[in-house]
Amino acid sequence: MEKQTKEVIINQARLSIIEGDITKQSTDAIVNAANPGLMGGGGVDGAIHRAGGPAILEECQHIVAKQGRLPTGKAVITTGGKLKAKDVIHTVGPIWYGGTKNEADLLTSAYKESLKLAAENNLVSISFPSISTGAYGYPQAEASKMAVKAVASFLREQVTSIKEVVFVLFDSRTYDVYCSALEKMMAQQ
Ligand code: ADP
Repeated sequence: MEKQTKEVIINQARLSIIEGDITKQSTDAIVNAANPGLMGGGGVDGAIHRAGGPAILEECQHIVAKQGRLPTGKAVITTGGKLKAKDVIHTVGPIWYGGTKNEADLLTSAYKESLKLAAENNLVSISFPSISTGAYGYPQAEASKMAVKAVASFLREQVTSIKEVVFVLFDSRTYDVYCSALEKMMAQQ
């Protein structure tokens, strides 16, 4: 059975955590944990392209032809194709090298650049997967801490069009890790 939604309000926006499949979300945008070539791949990236259809890959190819590969920590936006979400924001999280390659800052940047792009496009709601914790090997406890901190500080620093941010975690273990990261962060204030 799926677990209950966990949520907090930060500066007029709702930050919530659910267990589920991000391709099924009806937020304005869903975020893809992409790779720099924007060619689709495994994990959540493959699932988004499969569910959204070829229009997403087509736009990704145009973007790469125009501006080259997407650097780690940056984000771009495409259509959501056949998804419920109108748009997909593709960002590249860092590969985990034991914490020696500025991974925390790059992961923070992946979340903040995605939110910035959503706000620039006047989006109201956005869903994130657990960026970098699959094939890219970032330890979940560390990644979840950076993820909730990045989103909370973005929401605290400015009021934008964004009123709802959802972490959509694929399994109950990851859901639990993100809930406890959020609880710890809120308790520290
Ligand atoms: P990365 O390369 O950034 O590590 P992955 O796609 O390998 O990205 O994994 C990131 C996270 O996305 C993992 O926790 C994985 O379980 C999760 N994931 C995979 N498919 C989905 C999905 N359909 N919805 C939400 N999360 C998903």
